[in-house]
Amino acid sequence: MTLKVCKFGGSSLANSGQLQKVRQIVASDADRRFIVPSAPGKRSKSDQKITDLLYLCHDHARQSVAFDEVFGLIRQRYLEIAEELDLGIDIGRHLDGIADDIACGATYPGDTGASGDEKYARAYAASRGEFLCGLLIADLLGITFVDASEVVHFDADGMLDSHHTHAALSSRLKGLDRAVIPGFYGSMPDGRIQTFSRGGSDISGALVARSAEAVLYENWTDVSGLLMADPSVIENPRAIETVTYRELRELAYMGATVLHDEAIFPAREAGIHVNIRNTNEPEAPGTTIVPNANAPKSRTLISGIAGRRDFTVIALDKALMNREIGFGRRLLGVLESHDISYEHTPTGIDTMSVVLADAELEGKTDAVLDEIRRVCQPDSLEVYPHMSLIATVGRGMAKHPGIAARLFGALAED
Ligand code: ASP
Repeated sequence: MTLKVCKFGGSSLANSGQLQKVRQIVASDADRRFIVPSAPGKRSKSDQKITDLLYLCHDHARQSVAFDEVFGLIRQRYLEIAEELDLGIDIGRHLDGIADDIACGATYPGDTGASGDEKYARAYAASRGEFLCGLLIADLLGITFVDASEVVHFDADGMLDSHHTHAALSSRLKGLDRAVIPGFYGSMPDGRIQTFSRGGSDISGALVARSAEAVLYENWTDVSGLLMADPSVIENPRAIETVTYRELRELAYMGATVLHDEAIFPAREAGIHVNIRNTNEPEAPGTTIVPNANAPKSRTLISGIAGRRDFTVIALDKALMNREIGFGRRLLGVLESHDISYEHTPTGIDTMSVVLADAELEGKTDAVLDEIRRVCQPDSLEVYPHMSLIATVGRGMAKHPGIAARLFGALAED
C-alpha cells in the first residue's frame, strides 16, 4: 500500500468548516495515513492566528500583565470548533492546563516554571496551538494522536536532531496505520519544548514523510499550487504543474513564497515528491515538486518567472582586464573581508560587475568602494543601487532558441 503524508496549513484549519473539508480530503484517499496540522490560522484578513495569540499570552504573562482576555479568544476558537463538529474530547480541560502553564512560565507540560527560562517558555506556549489542533483532528478522524514531543527531537542547543528524530519517528509510525502528528514543535533532551521557526510545520511534515517512507508529501494550503508569475503583476497566472527542487529553490530565492525549499529539505533528501494543494479547491492538481532526475519533460519551456527588488550592482571597467591574473579574486576578496555575500558576477572582456543585496552594503558602501579602488585599480567604477532582478526559470530553456529574445523583447515593450 502506498502512503501519503498530508500537512495542513493554518488557513486549512481556521474553523469547523475548514476542518470538515480536511476530513473529506483525508477520507477520499485511503493512502492519506499520516496528518500533520499547523495551528488554526486567520478566518479573515483582520483575524488573528492562534500562534500569534499564544505568543501574546506569553509576553503578557512575562510582564505580569493579565492575559485572560487574549487567552479567552484562543479558548473560544477551540471550543467553537469542538462544539460545531460535535467532538467528544474535553478540550476545555487541556486549555485550562495550558493557561496555568503559560502563567507560571512552564517550558514543558507539568513544569513549574521555576527555571525562569523565558526562551523555552515562549516556545512551549506557541507549540500549544498545534498540540490542541492535533487533538481535535485526531478526534475528528478517529485516529491515533502522536505527541510531536515524543518523536521530533532537538539537541541541547535547540537545533533539530535529524538522526534521533528519524529513528524515533520511524519506529513509532511503523506500528500505526494512521495518525496525527502536530507540526511546528518537538522536545529537547531534557524535555523542554522547542519549535521550528515560524511556518515550521512544513518541516515537521517533511520529517514525517521521510520517516514514514511516503510516496508523496501533500502540502495543503489555500492556493492551487505555485503560480507561474506574481498575480499582482500578471492577471490570472497559471499554476505550475511540475517543478524540480532546483527550480523551486530559484523561484523561492526570487520571492515566490508558497513553500520555502529549505522547509522541505528532509523530503528532498529522501527523493519524495511534494504536492502543493488547495484545501478550498481539492480537485485541482496543484504543483508537484520532484527531484531533478525524475523531472518529466516540461510542457512549458518556462516553469515560472519571479523577481526581487533592492539589489546593488557595482560595475568595474579596466582596459585589458581579461589578461590580469587575480582581478576577480581581489574584487571578491574585498567583499569577503567586509563580510558581504554577493549574488552574481556578470563579466565582459574588460568589465566585471557584482550584484549584491542593498542591505549587505548598509553602512559599508564608502569603505568597500575605497578598498575596491585601491586593490583593483579600475579605470571606472559605477554603483547602481535599488535594482531589481528577474529570474526566468525552466528546464529545457537552455536548449531552446528564442527564449532570451522573447524575454528582452517583453522588457523593451514595457
Ligand atoms: N503555527 C506556526 C506559525 O504560525 C507554524 C506553522 O503554521 O507552520 O508559524
